[in-house]
Amino acid sequence: MTARFQTRRDFIKTTAIAAASVPLVGAWLPNVRAAGPDKKLGVALVGLGSLSTHQIAPALQKTKYCRLAGIVTGTPAKAEKWKAQYNLPDRSIYNYDTMEKMADNPDIDFIYVVTPNALHAEHTIKAANAGKHVLCEKPMEVSSEKCQQMIDACKKAGRQLAIGYRCRFDPHNIECIRLAREKVFGDLRIIEACFDIHLDQPPSAWRFHKALSGGGCLMDVGVYALQATRFIMGEEPISVSGMETKTDPVKFKEVDESIVWQEKFPSGVIAYCSASYNARLFGRYTAIADKGWFELNPGFYYDGNRGRRSDGKEIRFPEVDPLGELYQFAAEMDDFAQCILNHQPTRVPGEEGLRDVKIMTAIYESVRTGKTINLT
Ligand code: NAD
Repeated sequence: MTARFQTRRDFIKTTAIAAASVPLVGAWLPNVRAAGPDKKLGVALVGLGSLSTHQIAPALQKTKYCRLAGIVTGTPAKAEKWKAQYNLPDRSIYNYDTMEKMADNPDIDFIYVVTPNALHAEHTIKAANAGKHVLCEKPMEVSSEKCQQMIDACKKAGRQLAIGYRCRFDPHNIECIRLAREKVFGDLRIIEACFDIHLDQPPSAWRFHKALSGGGCLMDVGVYALQATRFIMGEEPISVSGMETKTDPVKFKEVDESIVWQEKFPSGVIAYCSASYNARLFGRYTAIADKGWFELNPGFYYDGNRGRRSDGKEIRFPEVDPLGELYQFAAEMDDFAQCILNHQPTRVPGEEGLRDVKIMTAIYESVRTGKTINLT
């Protein structure tokens, strides 16, 4: 969730990084702009809320290997509106109780779960039972048990399960992974990462209710900072500790308002991170190595991400700009389609979502107990 808190234009206006851009490396950018092949995989969106409406459905129109082929919604009026807007046939309109009937619908190849966090398992398992592959939004679910059930259901059905970690398709984040792996600035020592936003939603919104969200800022936006520390390191943390503060205990009665945590990695690197629903820095990270540093600021936006390196070079790939905030979503869906078509594993499998949920659960345990939690 970023677009409603900022625009790329706002960011560009306030930023003046003048160093040279580094070249685009690798063949990791799916060609989302070229004309598509004859057969595109059919995608059914499950949950037609903000993200589906403003990012995913428009991004689907820009993909090379996908097309919007169906919807699952509990609101008949939305069903009518989407049916007309996207020219969908009646047989591809479902509600949450009928979605298993997709088993008889060859137009739908995979579903994209975009419902509140605590419903992801239910919708994933129904789709897997209907023989569909599943792309599921982050955080994967609200407990590791439910994540495991999703993995098991998709395995049993012989279908792929991917988590919507869109930053893994953003060239700026991918370039940072390269800088870390190739030790361009030497051995990493410390990572700082944060994603701090103002959650401008009414108290009735599901994000404030633990039963549907599983947690607050950590689960929703902190997961980006956690992911970044893990993908930059290419290692799993061996211990975590956390602390939270609530300045508005009424609004944030059920979920975390602001939280900070530390992670220790086997190679000795430490990360310190923060997330907030009541502060404003958006998302950024800095990786500090023994010979220099690199950073993205912002690093987790839908678009407009950019960064700097200690040698004065900029990390910036303006070629993603024509698709703007749709780019990462189009790239992630095209990548998943290619994985399905070519029987290849996704870089963002369910196991990856499960790891993050396990770590976030440990951070909450540390907040509760005041102890460092061992993850080994
Ligand atoms: P939203 O509230 O705008 O939409 C949620 C949808 O789920 C709505 O259409 C709602 O009607 C439906 N729904 C079904 N059952 C529901 C229930 N019992 N209670 C409430 N709503 C119910 O939320 P959103 O911002 O679109 O987020 C949906 C998912 O996408 C979440 O898991 C969120 O973490 C994720 N997300 C990811 C990103 C990203 O950048 N990848 C950004 C925003 C949201």
